[in-house]
Amino acid sequence: MHRFALAGNPNSGKTTLFNGLTGSTAHVGNWPGVTVDKREGVYKKFDEPIAIVDLPGIYSLSPYTPEEVIARNYILDEKPDCVINIIDATNLERNLYLTTQLLEIDVPMVLALNMMDAVEKRGDYIDEKALENRLGIPVVKISALKGEGLDKLMERAHQVCSVIRYGKTVIEDVALKHLIGDIKIALEGQGVSNPMFHAVKLAEFDEIEVLMHKDTVNMVEAFKKSHQYDGFGDDFEALIADARYKYITKYFSPTLKRKNKEKFVVTPSDKADKVLTHKIWGIPIFLVILFTIFHLTFSENLFFLGGLLPEGWVSFEGTAFEGVFGAGGINSPGVMLMSLVEILTTFISDGVATLLATSPEWVSGLICDGVLGGIFAILGFLPQILVLFLFFSILEDSGYMARIAFILDRALRKFGLSGRAFLPMIMGFGCSVPAMINTRTLADEKEKIATVRVIPFFSCGAKLPILTAVSGAIVGYFGVGNVDFITYGMYLIGMITALVAVVLMRETTLKGDTPPFIMELPAYHAPQLWNLVMLLWDKAKHFIHKAFTIILASTIIIWVISHFSFSWNYLSDDLMHQSILGGLGQLIQPLFTPLGFGSQLNGMGWVFAVAAITGLIAKENVVSTLGTLATCLIGTMIDIESDGGVGAVSIMIANTGITLPALLAFIAFNMTTIPCFAAVAAAKGEMPNKKKFNWTIVFWVITSYIVASALYLIGTAWWTAFLYLAVAIVAITIIKFTNKKREKIGK
Ligand code: GDP
Ligand code: MG
Repeated sequence: MHRFALAGNPNSGKTTLFNGLTGSTAHVGNWPGVTVDKREGVYKKFDEPIAIVDLPGIYSLSPYTPEEVIARNYILDEKPDCVINIIDATNLERNLYLTTQLLEIDVPMVLALNMMDAVEKRGDYIDEKALENRLGIPVVKISALKGEGLDKLMERAHQVCSVIRYGKTVIEDVALKHLIGDIKIALEGQGVSNPMFHAVKLAEFDEIEVLMHKDTVNMVEAFKKSHQYDGFGDDFEALIADARYKYITKYFSPTLKRKNKEKFVVTPSDKADKVLTHKIWGIPIFLVILFTIFHLTFSENLFFLGGLLPEGWVSFEGTAFEGVFGAGGINSPGVMLMSLVEILTTFISDGVATLLATSPEWVSGLICDGVLGGIFAILGFLPQILVLFLFFSILEDSGYMARIAFILDRALRKFGLSGRAFLPMIMGFGCSVPAMINTRTLADEKEKIATVRVIPFFSCGAKLPILTAVSGAIVGYFGVGNVDFITYGMYLIGMITALVAVVLMRETTLKGDTPPFIMELPAYHAPQLWNLVMLLWDKAKHFIHKAFTIILASTIIIWVISHFSFSWNYLSDDLMHQSILGGLGQLIQPLFTPLGFGSQLNGMGWVFAVAAITGLIAKENVVSTLGTLATCLIGTMIDIESDGGVGAVSIMIANTGITLPALLAFIAFNMTTIPCFAAVAAAKGEMPNKKKFNWTIVFWVITSYIVASALYLIGTAWWTAFLYLAVAIVAITIIKFTNKKREKIGK
């Protein structure tokens, strides 16, 4: 099977093209660095199938970033049959810089001028025939987004893929050209493949190349002694880069005819950035946008209009849709959708309960409470998770998230955190697993370790049910606050914990330089509907799949071990504390006393402890476990599935006497403790050694303990805040002091 590789700058549309060619639904992100690893798919429109490989985005083939090494090694070692170099045609000159390097490799190649829709909209014109003549490879105009020109691109690629092409260089300086020619002959003599590419890289004194061809390096050394270049001295890397740009300006720039003659026009994107990335206002604007998102997802009093509305005007009292649109105020879209799903799940579980009315107690108990109770408690959250994701995807796809990385880089660089590390953190809002894998884009190992450790604090989709169920119960039972405020506040606590933890680690055990963060800000654009639909579909699929496999299995197990004693006698609901689960729970519950959900709760604190532990399998389990246990606790079948666990948590509050600060501590504990097994495995894969991994686990346990106990103790007795403050000040002073001392010794 032929193999074609897609290579190009970050954000040039490789993944969009890849999806268009292979029909897959890989994540397209409007920020650089989304595709870390290569990815394969199949193009099926020809008689023979063709494998398409999406390589990570790169600006050059030098070995400075992991992406560059992956892409470079793939093209050189795996020898694809054709390289499709995709470039963002709205940024023609800069994108062609990589092209001039790819040209040096002995591989068939075509150039795809992508984003032609945007170029044409601007009124610009690119003479692709002239480019084709200059480059000596086919040039095809496409729009990956609109799916235009893809067939033609593949046809041209197919035509050239079996014709041998030798690398050629654009370096025109006579002396340099001679040097490269001589090295090339020497390399050919040694039987090295891709001699032109290696010759140019050797002349650049490229790190990898120098190690690979030790005996040929002296040719370059000798040359350097006799040739000094004005302004460059013997920095041949800069010299060659300059030569490439000169060539591009001389021969490629004229192929672009701009409608707007001035080179620098202020685009609407630039204007928006003046405000959105403002030095002072950037971060507050981000926080407000974030709050708005939570408000639209969780609020039951949209835009706080409740007080203004005539009572009951949206409630549809007495109909099946009672309360869907709101009661005291208007519901947010997230809550409306959730209410609709509730109607459906209540309908199903009522039906099943009626069917099973005559069956033995444990059968109906297992099916209604164990299975349906657990699963529906989870599915009830699907709408809100999807709504939240829709907003996050819009932020990402529009290009705003990339700005956030930029703003935060500016603010946090002095604390040892680069904007680059922030991208995987934001991905953590979706799922920690891909987020942790994405940290491979971080060049500095210590920064990477610190980032992997704090990613779980960016509360993932699976932790959302814990947040909404507990905060829903808080609002309902204690009558304080709003669900949207509480969830937003808890998300912020997670993020702040992450930042503080990173700063502390970077000041102590993981000290190191923060590598410069270079990112080009993509232009803002309207999010692509199809893109959003695919993203949401992926999320929903993943979530539902999980609900019916791992979560279903765990709810059944929880139900069984909470209804049988150690001597395998069936226990009725009210004897649950004698069950296997009850016994184990009581064993560990003292551990959670400082966090507010341990021994102080009428001997029932263990239900929270157990719920938190089942969360290690999958975080959704926390709520479904509470759901299963609550149903058992009050001894009768309750409608816990109809409200996504809010009722279950309320029952727990009533029966255990758990306090409000303890409930917040419970959320915080779940958010910052050891993540689910899948994320733990991912973290293990990203850690350089076993020791660092073990410390990571310890770090999670300690952090969750500190954050949760602080919330509980300060919430219970406010003056304990001074204790925490004092400890913090002492810790910071010690760190500052030892760091200074070490610096002095260093000098
Ligand atoms: P990658 O980083 O190279 O994989 O690029 P992506 O495929 O993730 O695309 C980056 C951004 O460019 C996304 O926001 C796409 O929607 C957008 N994009 C991709 N192709 C086109 C195109 O042909 N026209 C326009 N206007 N935008 C595009
Ligand atoms: Mg990509």
